[in-house]
Amino acid sequence: MSTFQYAEIKEAIQEAQQIVIISHKSPDGDAIGSSLGLAHVLRALDKEVTVTVPDAFPQFLQWMPGQKDILRFDLHGNDVREALTKADLIFTLDFNALHRIGEEFGSEVAHAKAPKILVDHHREPSDFYTYAVHDIESCSTAQLVYELIEAAEYDHLLNVEAAECLYSGILTDSGSFRFPSTSARTHEIVARLIDTGLNISKVYNKIYDNNSLSRIRLLGYVLGKKLKVNRDFSLAYITLSLEEMNTYHYKPGDTEGFVNYALSVSGIRFACIMKEMEEGVKMSFRSKGNLDVNQFSRRYFSGGGHLNAAGGVSPMGLQETEQHFVEVAKGYVDEWRGKK
Ligand code: 5GP
Ligand code: MN
Repeated sequence: MSTFQYAEIKEAIQEAQQIVIISHKSPDGDAIGSSLGLAHVLRALDKEVTVTVPDAFPQFLQWMPGQKDILRFDLHGNDVREALTKADLIFTLDFNALHRIGEEFGSEVAHAKAPKILVDHHREPSDFYTYAVHDIESCSTAQLVYELIEAAEYDHLLNVEAAECLYSGILTDSGSFRFPSTSARTHEIVARLIDTGLNISKVYNKIYDNNSLSRIRLLGYVLGKKLKVNRDFSLAYITLSLEEMNTYHYKPGDTEGFVNYALSVSGIRFACIMKEMEEGVKMSFRSKGNLDVNQFSRRYFSGGGHLNAAGGVSPMGLQETEQHFVEVAKGYVDEWRGKK
């Protein structure tokens, strides 16, 4: 099921003066790209716009036009609270439930008086918004932001800065245009973005050819020493402890994409990376075909996401989490094979 309430949202934008745009914890390319892309267009409409996220975003995104003005709730909670109080419109981008921005921030947003516009492509959004642009078929939230801009007839306001941000969201969330969610429409939208003067090589280089040496060394260590494969169940997984991450001077975003190497092993259908964090073990799941990791993550790891890419958390220690994951994943693969 999808929702496209363009007319209502356009009216809400026209009436609003102070707009807050919010995206999820551990913001990725789509979170930052869709938020900043929308912010550029709203600013071109003379709106006062605050872009805010719960916590740090990776270094490979810290070049995007407008990123310097993003307010982090963990560092600038009071400024964010003030912006929420003053706001007459709130956009929530690239997440489907308020817990995805953290308990405290989530409750501030729940209590904010302004109407809330959800723009998102994750499954099963919870009921916290006023109007929505929601489509799980879309490769990215950035693509849905473009759809909204075009439907509201604001596309003449798309400048190269906005295009760089939206393209970054589309590029990263579509796996560089290789995931099945990439459609003809995705490429049509990219064509429109290129029309603004967007340099796609520049954006690609900024995002993917900008690795710290320690990240590349961590990748080498993970692939050489930490990748485990269970061929009987088409499973591949990686665990990383806090100590291991410290050894390689881990920074947010450094393990982005590692799980895809596990999935890329021939014959593997289901891949996972388990990362020990201060607050528990962060899980990332990826799959091929119709093996549904969104459902798996909801069932076993209090998470969710998409059919082929989901995340969750485990309250157990890293070793117990690994054992538990292998056990429930084997059962899940068995169940899936039985249904095929
Ligand atoms: P990643 O593995 O790249 O962190 O996330 C994969 C997908 O799952 C993303 O679309 C992300 O929004 C979603 N996701 C990641 N972690 C969680 C989580 O803890 N809960 C839910 N509901 N979704 C998550
Ligand atoms: Mn996304």
